[in-house]
Amino acid sequence: MVHLRIKKTHTGRGVFAGETIPKGAVITHMQGKEHVWDEVEKLIKNGKVRLDDPFQIGEEDFLLLDRLSVLFNHSCDPNAGINKERDLVALRAILPGEEICYDYSATVCTHSSWVMRCKCGSSVCRKKIGNVRTIPLAVRKKYKAKGLLSAFIRSELV
Ligand SMILES: [Zn+2]
Repeated sequence: MVHLRIKKTHTGRGVFAGETIPKGAVITHMQGKEHVWDEVEKLIKNGKVRLDDPFQIGEEDFLLLDRLSVLFNHSCDPNAGINKERDLVALRAILPGEEICYDYSATVCTHSSWVMRCKCGSSVCRKKIGNVRTIPLAVRKKYKAKGLLSAFIRSELV
């Protein structure tokens, strides 16, 4: 098990490395309860789920992530990514105290109209993020080559 710490950030809470995490290491497995979009939409409307939190796993299928998985924040220059097994893996060595982030857009299908203002602060920040097509092509290709786009998204991009 990788040692992780949950700490406050400028946007709420986030997950930080509690030890050095080597490149390629599995940080955690993204898991939660599966729901179809209609159910998720109702939960968002009722204020039970935040709009940015549902994790897409298929055209109509989402996970409401568990208490840890939901706390990982987005970055436009992420140090982690999610593979086909839904493991969050380190894209480079992550030092103790560094926040662990992945690119939310890599999990959002092209039909989605979801948008989020980004305050990740990276030099390549896209400011407003949305579905997978809002990722610059070169970055999207890099994610695809590393197996960091979900199967339902990869098939859409062909
Ligand atoms: Zn950003």
